[in-house]
Amino acid sequence: MAGFDVDRVREDFPILGRTLDSGARLVYLDSGATTQKPLQVLDAERDFYLNHNAAVHRGAHQLSVEATDAYEGARRRIAAFVGAAEDEIVFTKNTTEGINLVAYALGNAGRIGPGDKIVVTEMEHHANLVPWQQLAERTGARLAWFGLTDDGRLDLDGLDELVDESTKVVALTHQSNVLGTLNPVRPIADRAHAVGALVVVDGAQSVPHRPVDVTELGADFLAFSGHKMLGPSGVGVLWGRAALLDELPPFLTGGSMIEVVEMERSTFLPPPQRFEAGVPMTAQAVGLAAAVDYLETLGMREVAAHEDALTALALNLLGEIPGLRIIGPENLTDRGSAVSFTLSGIHPHDVGQILDDRGVAVRTGHHCARPLSRRYGLAATTRASFYVYNTAEEVTALAEGVRAAQKYFA
Ligand code: PMP
Repeated sequence: MAGFDVDRVREDFPILGRTLDSGARLVYLDSGATTQKPLQVLDAERDFYLNHNAAVHRGAHQLSVEATDAYEGARRRIAAFVGAAEDEIVFTKNTTEGINLVAYALGNAGRIGPGDKIVVTEMEHHANLVPWQQLAERTGARLAWFGLTDDGRLDLDGLDELVDESTKVVALTHQSNVLGTLNPVRPIADRAHAVGALVVVDGAQSVPHRPVDVTELGADFLAFSGHKMLGPSGVGVLWGRAALLDELPPFLTGGSMIEVVEMERSTFLPPPQRFEAGVPMTAQAVGLAAAVDYLETLGMREVAAHEDALTALALNLLGEIPGLRIIGPENLTDRGSAVSFTLSGIHPHDVGQILDDRGVAVRTGHHCARPLSRRYGLAATTRASFYVYNTAEEVTALAEGVRAAQKYFA
């Protein structure tokens, strides 16, 4: 972890100094669910409310102009972060809303019909599965999916048969929130595009953790959440190719997204405004731009390298524990920093409880990916997930806590 000053980073996150009711110091290993926020993000939000707060794109007064500048400045900042054009960035509530927006807009546009195929994967978070099930139900389309290999990767055998001429959408996660697996989007997208299908990527677990550039990714849409990348909750991002956004009808309708409104019909603004009905989450967008500044100051390559080092250590230390099974790739190749595991004879909730007593915050359960759990014959796993502020000592505390759980339940 040379060159990455994690002690310096931790000074920006006062919550990490917290002592819990158990008397233990917090060891926060649940960033896959949501991340902590640095002072810089809190300050940016506070400054917006203290000094510039107004409804954007509306008033004729100075504060409204300042709020609009702050909001549109945040859009520019976030566009640059993922290599996108400004008007390709739609602010949403979170990843879930971004994916729903695409699913509804494609449905409303009549781009999916009876007999068409929508292809997903068996490792999807429910956020990138249920909206497609619903779209299939509304339109008479069929759902099909990539299965998984025993070591937690997409089974790409039969890619060409699965993604065939009837396929209209391929929706997949870039990085699994359970397995940690980083999926090869490009070859899948190339096949999808060859048959005229659109590619929707769930970037909730990739964009916060590694450099992601939409011009290299090969997808048509990319959704991610601010709260998983040091930003506030309540703001997310949908990137879509300009030409596609331009063709799509709105998802939510109302104020701020209309051009002309008559009693019986309306016309809509161009993207991104067409997809942002109502007064948007302005302070949150400003906070997310500050989070992006923070991550870029650290450097996304350095962030990824720091997490790789923590993940390698976790895989080593956990791998030495008898009866512990890693669910997902067991080496660092093409995987991120979510590490899920089971312990033979001990329920994950019990592991989580013992860890919590020691201050170690992890997540237990199905992690909103029930078909994935079912694929591996599991009702639940324990998941540790790492981020910029985690240390090698914290990974060691995790492994020690797991051993303590084993001893307690022996
Ligand atoms: N996709 C993945 C891979 C996730 O990990 C999550 C959050 N756990 C989501 C989608 C949904 O994110 P949000 O709840 O912020 O919409």
